[in-house]
Amino acid sequence: MSAELATDITTTDVTTTDITTIGAAPPAGRRAFDVTLPIGYTDPEGTVHRKVVLRKMTGKEEAILADRRFQKNGGRLVTELLHSCIVQLGELSPNGRSTVSNLYSADRNYLLLKLRSVTFGSELESSYTCPSCSEQLHVNEDLDDLPVTVVPDGEEQGDVLVELVDGYVDKEGNVHTALALRLPTGADEEAVASQMRENPSLGKNALLARCIRSLGEMPRHRLEALGPRIMSDLTMTDRRLIDQALNDAAPGVDLVRRQECPACGREFSASLDLSNFLALA
Ligand SMILES: [Zn+2]
Repeated sequence: MSAELATDITTTDVTTTDITTIGAAPPAGRRAFDVTLPIGYTDPEGTVHRKVVLRKMTGKEEAILADRRFQKNGGRLVTELLHSCIVQLGELSPNGRSTVSNLYSADRNYLLLKLRSVTFGSELESSYTCPSCSEQLHVNEDLDDLPVTVVPDGEEQGDVLVELVDGYVDKEGNVHTALALRLPTGADEEAVASQMRENPSLGKNALLARCIRSLGEMPRHRLEALGPRIMSDLTMTDRRLIDQALNDAAPGVDLVRRQECPACGREFSASLDLSNFLALA
């Protein structure tokens, strides 16, 4: 599968904790497991739900993974899979796919990792390419050992604030520099999936544009009318600042792994490739 893992962002103080309770091999005969979301789902009444009962994937999910309708939209595929395997989300009564769509991407990615762990075990053979000598490294990673950054209990996910250096220049010549973004959700992933496939840079513009809460003094209707054009107009200096803000203290699973090349000794960081981690083989 090729679920795009969206960038995760926060301004909330976070602590790094391994919150997993699942062992390396999924227990035989047990189908349902408790997991705790790194961020949680806030319902319309303001209650945050973080406890999830997840069940192992079955033949039903194998059919979802093979369904051509979802092949072109990783966001929809993830929504469908999670909706199918979530037995209980917090105190919510079972409902449609919209709740799963509205989960933060960081929570959805965490649930996907847990789904993989409980169904097939937590070991994943991963390949990395040494940036110095191009040696291929094959490393057995334990998905349950990946560091998870969680929002402290009782706290809610906040917006990400970025002070842009160059800012956005509107048609009157005013410069807007104070950018506030919310974290992306599954609904954002679903909405930009086709753009993301055709051009990851434009897809990212579309994703971030959806997440803009405010930009300087720009009125809401202008922000909405401009959409992704705001992001493509920003300087690369500012775009880098946004990336940094999104990555700093991001809640969720940290997929960046430190590796040492056995051939040349080079140490490097690389992101764990999850593109095929739900493969049934
Ligand atoms: Zn090397």
